[in-house]
Amino acid sequence: MSSQSRPHKPLHPRLARERRTVAAMIGIYCRAKHGGMDLCAECSDLLVYAANRLEHCGFGGDKPPCKDCPAHCYAPHRRARIQEVMRYAGPRLLKSHPYLALRHALDGLRRTPSKKSGS
Ligand code: SF4
Ligand SMILES: [Zn+2]
Repeated sequence: MSSQSRPHKPLHPRLARERRTVAAMIGIYCRAKHGGMDLCAECSDLLVYAANRLEHCGFGGDKPPCKDCPAHCYAPHRRARIQEVMRYAGPRLLKSHPYLALRHALDGLRRTPSKKSGS
């Protein structure tokens, strides 16, 4: 049994898919920019942060693309980092994860809902 018994909160399927997408993108970015097969400490930290933001996203399954979100729940330096990751990994996602890339593109067409609490 793990000494860190943090309960795992079930996510809405769309948020769970976004979590897989962001994990794939951070993996692509880290392998290219930081060289290892496993995520480096900085990218692991970013992934934990992004997954936590998704877990607490006030829009649930209706969430807009984070880049269009009126709530902007990311801290500014985290937002800048994830934008850098997305810029690099977005065009490369199609090759390694075609299904996630397609769904990510479709999610990008969603309308932005009216403002709600982001957490
Ligand atoms: S509140 Fe906005 S920025 Fe935060 S996870 Fe949800 S959609 Fe993304
Ligand atoms: Zn890294």
